[in-house]
Amino acid sequence: MIIVMCKDAPQEEINVIREKLIKNHDIEIHESKGTNYHLLGVVGDTSTIDPSMIEANRIVEKLIRVQSPYKRASKMFKPDASVINIEGHKIGGTHFSVIAGPCSIEGRDSLIDLAKQIKRSGAQFLRGGAFKPRTSPYSFQGMGEEGIEIMNEAKRQTGLPVVTEIMSIDKIDYFNENVDIIQVGARNMQNFTLLKELGRIQKPILLKRGLSATIEELLMAAEYVMSGGNDNVILCERGIRTFEKYTRNTLDISAVPVIKKLSHLPVIVDPSHASGEWWLVEPLAKAALAVGADGIMVEVHQDPQNAKSDGQQSIKPEKFDLLMKTLKSLSPFLDKTM
Ligand code: PEP
Ligand code: MN
Repeated sequence: MIIVMCKDAPQEEINVIREKLIKNHDIEIHESKGTNYHLLGVVGDTSTIDPSMIEANRIVEKLIRVQSPYKRASKMFKPDASVINIEGHKIGGTHFSVIAGPCSIEGRDSLIDLAKQIKRSGAQFLRGGAFKPRTSPYSFQGMGEEGIEIMNEAKRQTGLPVVTEIMSIDKIDYFNENVDIIQVGARNMQNFTLLKELGRIQKPILLKRGLSATIEELLMAAEYVMSGGNDNVILCERGIRTFEKYTRNTLDISAVPVIKKLSHLPVIVDPSHASGEWWLVEPLAKAALAVGADGIMVEVHQDPQNAKSDGQQSIKPEKFDLLMKTLKSLSPFLDKTM
């Protein structure tokens, strides 16, 4: 971090900033002064420094960050790719993991039947919303805990670990006991109180990118969970809001290699929410594999026309089976195992 001082800043005031930084952070400061500049070069762990506290000083002209504001999520902190192990199923590294299931859990028989079908096709995890973040309060809100009980019945019958979204802090203990991967949805990516509380448990967290969040904001959200002590974070690119209206969102496919460059955390892609169209799921899933994603999360439904949510972007189990065959045949060319 470089702190550029205003011209003619009094040395005593610079010293005050200097002493305060050294006292409160694990850093060293190298001062350099010329006729037209006066700089403080801050080296060490600058992630704990709040830039606005420095910029608020009248004698500071600007602050230039050299390192990222996140630390635990950064590849500089941990160069090797993180692999998250969920009951023997791995996400990250050389694995290409597939999470599949309906947008919402709608009933016992339909979910168990679907879980069996996706398992036969080679999916490793079952997804399904029980607490749904719907835009309209009049839309189906999910089956709640009853849905999660049904999911666990499907798990007992298929062995597929389960992934479902949490919406509030008061459900953390329940999710910790009954869910294998806790999903934080796009709309809650910056619910910092929720993220901090999820940092206190060890359960893997699937963190979806916010609707208009930058990559750095996504990594900072991961940092919230990790700074609490939970390093088991999986990131998910699920499309962002752009001016393009043809698709529900715009899949930011380059986010995958960018995040891979910046972070050791596994990254998966959700082609269903990214596109909003069932026929775009296959090409976007192939793109995800091609750019080095660690997996995908796909919405599958036996009867998309009558789905209680997101039918338009859900593929049928037969189509999912074909998609899995295609991905499996491509994966060796992309150094991934399935
Ligand atoms: C979901 O995966 O069920 C979901 C609601 O996705 P997102 O948070 O990405 O909109
Ligand atoms: Mn959905």
